[in-house]
Amino acid sequence: MTAPKDAPVSLEDARALMGAGESLLSPALERARALTRSGAAIDEAQVVTERVAYAATELRAAGEALALCEAIAAEGGAAPETAAALAAADLVASLRTRLEGVADELALDDALFEHAFPAALRAKLRALTSEAHVRALGREAIAARGRTEPPLDGTLEQVRTSVREFAEKEVAPHAERIHRHDEDIPESFITKMGELGYFGLSIPEQYGGHELGNLAMVLTTEELSRASLAGAGSLITRPEILTKALLQGGTEAQKRFWLPKLASGEVMVGVSVTEPDVGSDVAAVKCRAVRANEGGLEGWRIQGPKAWCTFAGRANVLALLARTDPDPRLGAKGLSLFIVPKEPAPGHAFEQTQPGGGRLVGKADATPGYRGMHSFTLGFENWFVPADHLVGEAGGLGKGFYLQMGGFAAGRLQTGGRACGLAQAALEETAKYVAGRTQFGRPIGDYQLTQYTLGRMALRLYQARALTYAAARAMDEDERAAAPLAAQAKLLACDIAVEVTQQGQLMHGGWGYAEEYPISRYVVDATVLPIFEGVKPILELKVVGRALLA
Ligand SMILES: Cc1cc2nc3c(=O)[nH]c(=O)nc-3n(C[C@H](O)[C@H](O)[C@H](O)COP(=O)(O)OP(=O)(O)OC[C@H]3O[C@@H](n4cnc5c(N)ncnc54)[C@H](O)[C@@H]3O)c2cc1C
Repeated sequence: MTAPKDAPVSLEDARALMGAGESLLSPALERARALTRSGAAIDEAQVVTERVAYAATELRAAGEALALCEAIAAEGGAAPETAAALAAADLVASLRTRLEGVADELALDDALFEHAFPAALRAKLRALTSEAHVRALGREAIAARGRTEPPLDGTLEQVRTSVREFAEKEVAPHAERIHRHDEDIPESFITKMGELGYFGLSIPEQYGGHELGNLAMVLTTEELSRASLAGAGSLITRPEILTKALLQGGTEAQKRFWLPKLASGEVMVGVSVTEPDVGSDVAAVKCRAVRANEGGLEGWRIQGPKAWCTFAGRANVLALLARTDPDPRLGAKGLSLFIVPKEPAPGHAFEQTQPGGGRLVGKADATPGYRGMHSFTLGFENWFVPADHLVGEAGGLGKGFYLQMGGFAAGRLQTGGRACGLAQAALEETAKYVAGRTQFGRPIGDYQLTQYTLGRMALRLYQARALTYAAARAMDEDERAAAPLAAQAKLLACDIAVEVTQQGQLMHGGWGYAEEYPISRYVVDATVLPIFEGVKPILELKVVGRALLA
């Protein structure tokens, strides 16, 4: 059965395709559960788990792509039907191919594929993902110079507009200089963002925040990242992580003391979990915290190396995961979370001492992108921390791992927003470039293949947004239940940011490789996104996979 190449886009067809995706994913999940003994033996079927986890993420994103369009229509906005239908169909096509690759391992036979995708549905799939439709989307993106964001309702639209204004005026003019010279982030960014309340968007009002919710936080992050991922878009991540850990496990006194300071930007945070020998296996953290008394004050001494602590130089405090019980058999249960004060220090290296003999040294590791924040290797020697800086105090002993993981869920959602902002910036720069660059006597944006590439960039960005916004709304409802969805949003949106920035670079030709064109910065910035806040394979296996298969 063939489909007309430019048959009109139908949301109904996209919904039917989602149903087909579901009838393939359901048995795949069921068999993966059996293979992994309900997630207990994921390591014996890692590839299958990864495929199923990603396919499930794609199907969820397809549903959210349609739901976002429907919500906009319900509010009387200009529903992005083409983007939504193409986005959903593209995700279903991808998950079908993905599962086909492990069909034998999952015992998904040809009859099952045929049943899920009969000829009529395969024709719909081909029609919706046809190059003619994708090119049409690309032409729209070029004409709009990449400004294809879905409309939002009242307050959220105001948030987006006002942050955009701030980011374009205050951040964007400095972004390239900060990146090229790996400068410190200007203090004015922090001061102004604090005054505008950007650090308190998910902090309850009773603790000095604005409580506009997770979607407002995501939109703020997105706009800041559109101007500069490292210069501004990532400033909110660390306060978000510590905020969530405090709200979940801090004492009332700790919440009252720290949250207003986080909301105002008075206290900037570094998150110190990773160690030179400990990355994904967070439960194996070795850095020790030993009970101590300094000048009559009860507390802890921190001892050991840490790695990749972003913003550790400028930060006033480090949210640090340390082993409070030396028994290694306790694993995650021997870890506690501390708020470790230090002096803010400019530049790429620092050394600080305490009157009681404590010493803290930090040295930034040079990186191709994500510059400005600087990510430090740290060495703690007898660094004293008062007892009331243990999150949850006595009740928080041994709970650090769980509090940290709760904080990471917020960090992952925020990173979904960072990825969308970076992809948006790439789409805009690329749309402008292909409209202005002429080769063989025509703007390169007039060529079919360029239009197709821009169309794919736009539809991929729509997918990333739909899933990230859905995760933000779900986090508002129930943070714990929505944690796997936040991980899925991070997983998909970060992959999309890498893909979209690289496609944008290719569309710039040689100039895409020149430092003076921002697309080259977007590319190197994007490549870090699938690495931190849970490196991609670990997110797939141990967060998304485990949640789906348990
Ligand atoms: C620029 C930057 C900033 C960062 N900022 C911070 C920060 O502020 N605070 C902080 O604490 N950390 C930070 N990190 C660290 C980051 O979170 C870690 O790099 C990440 O968690 C992965 O740990 P790792 O690098 O030790 O890799 P490893 O855990 O050694 O993993 C290496 C590779 O092996 C794979 N792998 C590992 N275990 C398994 C397994 N069981 N099965 C299959 N594959 C596996 C991983 O997926 C990965 O691909 C930052 C990193 C970077 C690059």
